[in-house]
Amino acid sequence: MTASPIAAVPLRIAARRLPREASALRHEVRGFLAEQLSAGGFQPRCDSWLGGWDRSFSLALGCRGWLGMTIPTADGGHGRTALERFVVVEELLAAGAPVAAHWIADRQTGPALLRYGSPEQRRRYLPAISRGELAAAIGMSEPDAGSDLAGIRTRARKVVGGWKVTGSKVWTSGAHDADLLVALVRTGDADGDRHSGLSQLLIDLPRDGVTIRPIRLLTGEHHFNQIHLDEVFVPDDAILGEVGRGWEQVVAELAYERSGPERFLSTLPLLVELVRQLDGSANRQAASAVGGLVAQLWSLRQLSVGVACAHDQGKIPDVEAAVVKDLGTRLEQELVDVVRLVAGVEPSSTGTVLHMLLAEAILHSPGFTLRGGTSEILRTIIAKRVLHG
Ligand SMILES: Cc1cc2nc3c(=O)[nH]c(=O)nc-3n(C[C@H](O)[C@H](O)[C@H](O)COP(=O)(O)OP(=O)(O)OC[C@H]3O[C@@H](n4cnc5c(N)ncnc54)[C@H](O)[C@@H]3O)c2cc1C
Repeated sequence: MTASPIAAVPLRIAARRLPREASALRHEVRGFLAEQLSAGGFQPRCDSWLGGWDRSFSLALGCRGWLGMTIPTADGGHGRTALERFVVVEELLAAGAPVAAHWIADRQTGPALLRYGSPEQRRRYLPAISRGELAAAIGMSEPDAGSDLAGIRTRARKVVGGWKVTGSKVWTSGAHDADLLVALVRTGDADGDRHSGLSQLLIDLPRDGVTIRPIRLLTGEHHFNQIHLDEVFVPDDAILGEVGRGWEQVVAELAYERSGPERFLSTLPLLVELVRQLDGSANRQAASAVGGLVAQLWSLRQLSVGVACAHDQGKIPDVEAAVVKDLGTRLEQELVDVVRLVAGVEPSSTGTVLHMLLAEAILHSPGFTLRGGTSEILRTIIAKRVLHG
C-alpha cells in the first residue's frame, strides 16, 4: 500500500484470526453457492450487494441460518459471532451473489434494533430479518443534507398518539421494494447544537403519505429513490431508541455500515474472472499487478476482521470503520483500472463474462467512494482521531 497519512492513525483494533469453526462454515457456504451456480440460481455480478435484488435468494440464506447470525436466539436470530457472519458475507460477495434484498436489514437495522429497540420492536422485526423476509431502507440523506447529515430538515411534529412526518429523503437504496424505512428526522430544536433534537423512526412501507420515485443509475437500473413524506402519521412506538438521541444512534449504525467486506469486495468478481481467464499464463507485468491488488485486499481484510471483533466486544469502532471504507473503496475502484489494463479489453454489455463484469464495475464504481459517507468526510473523521486521540 502506498504511504498515507492513515499510517499515523492510532487504530484501536488488534489483528485477529478467524476461529477454527469458521473453516467448516466457509466450506458449507461455498458448497451452497456452487450448487446455486450450477443450477443457474444466479449470475455472478459486481456490486451485488447494491444491484443483486432477489428475495428468494435471501429467504434461502435465511433458511440456512445465514441471516441475523449475530442476533441472539431469544430474539429470533442465531446467536453466532460477528466473525462467523464475516465469513458468510465475504463468501457471498466474492461469489457476486444477489444479496441486496436483505443487505441493509441484516447489516445495520438488526444491530440497531438490538442496541436500541424496545422489546416489542425486537419481537416484530428481528425474527423477520433473520428469516430474510424483511427488506429495510436507510432514510438519512436529504436533497440538501448528505455529508452534512446534521442539516436534515425532515421534521416530525408531535401529535396525539404519535408523530406527523413531513420532508424529503434522497438516494434511498431499495426503498421501492422495502418493508421498512429507518428515517432520521428532526423532532426537536437544535438549541445551538445541530446534533441534538434528532430521532430515528421506524416507518413501515408502503404507507399513506409516502411517495417513492426512482432515480436511475448510469446503467439505467432502478436502485435508489427520492422519497416524499407528507404529514405521515407514525405511532409513538415507532421511535427507535430515545427521542432526541438520533445522532448518537446513527453514528453507531454507521460503524456497521462502513466496516464490512462489502467496502473492499464490490469488484472482486471481476478480479476472480480475470485470474480465471489468465489461467496461469500471466506475464510478469500482469502477475505483479494482480499480486499487488491481492496483497492490499488481504491487508484490508485483516483490518475489517479486527473491526468485526470490536463489534463482538460491544464497542463502536467508528474511526476504524472509516479507515476500512476509505482505503477499501479506493481499492475497489483501482481494481477496475488494473483489470482493464491487464486484460486489454473494453467494457461491453454483450461480450464475454469479463466484458460484462467490467462494464458493470465501471458504471457502478463512482458511487463506491460516495455511498455511506464520502472519502473527504471519512478522512475528516480520521484526522480528528489523529489530532485529538
Ligand atoms: C450508490 C449510493 C447509494 C446510496 N444509498 C443511500 C441510502 O440508502 N440512504 C441514504 O440515506 N443515503 C444514501 N446515499 C447517499 C450518500 O450517503 C450521500 O451521497 C453521501 O453522504 C454524500 O452526500 P451528497 O451526495 O449530498 O454530497 P455532498 O455532501 O453535497 O458532497 C459533495 C462533495 O463535497 C464534498 N464535501 C462535502 N462536505 C465536505 C466537507 N465538510 N469537507 C470536505 N469535503 C466535503 C464531498 O466529499 C463530496 O465530494 C447513497 C449514495 C450512493 C452513491
